Amino acid sequence: MPPSPVPGPAGAPFPAPARPVSTAVVDSARGGGRTVSLTFDDGPNPADTLRLLGVLRRHRVAAVFCLWGEHVDDHPDVVRRIVADGHALGNHGMRHDDMARWPAERIAADLRATNDAIRRAVPGARIRYFRAPYGAWGGTPAVAAALGMRPLGWRLAVGDWEPPGTDELVRRLVDGVTPGAVVLLHDGGGDRHQTVEAVDRFVPVLRARRWRFTLPARD
Ligand SMILES: [Zn+2]
Repeated sequence: MPPSPVPGPAGAPFPAPARPVSTAVVDSARGGGRTVSLTFDDGPNPADTLRLLGVLRRHRVAAVFCLWGEHVDDHPDVVRRIVADGHALGNHGMRHDDMARWPAERIAADLRATNDAIRRAVPGARIRYFRAPYGAWGGTPAVAAALGMRPLGWRLAVGDWEPPGTDELVRRLVDGVTPGAVVLLHDGGGDRHQTVEAVDRFVPVLRARRWRFTLPARD
């Protein structure tokens, strides 16, 4: 069944995005074969985000940053750095709420507020993805797609929100990665220096095995 039009704040349906965006939650990287997509949630979070940007630049990897709206308002300069470095953006909600039981109007208001915050930091920013906080999708995929954002899932999570030590994170990444996986990591929500160090070690290991780092599929 096709999704019904999502009412906006005034009850009007959303205008259709220029290109229809699928409501299906994507968890695969572009390109097929030994590809992997790195995605980072809950930032911006100086200094870990800035250190991570340095690591990604050094390894020439483009990633997705799923941004927490309140943190965007606190650190717009870091968002500008993310965009200037060529990474893709995702909307991760204004206050990191569990939206699983929210009606569409409330979801839409939150997602719009988050996009507004991002575009106050970076006017005209392209926001390609939406990731539901806690993966609590509820009615969010249809709303996100109507706003032009592809719902972005993941195939591998390594528990970096409870940092187990950098060695263990590297082990979980290397052992857990599968061809085409979108990988969930965190640059915000706490001290994420272990994540940053693990990425710095994980990327060269995969490159030596001829893996490529691409963005998640979108269309
Ligand atoms: Zn999150």
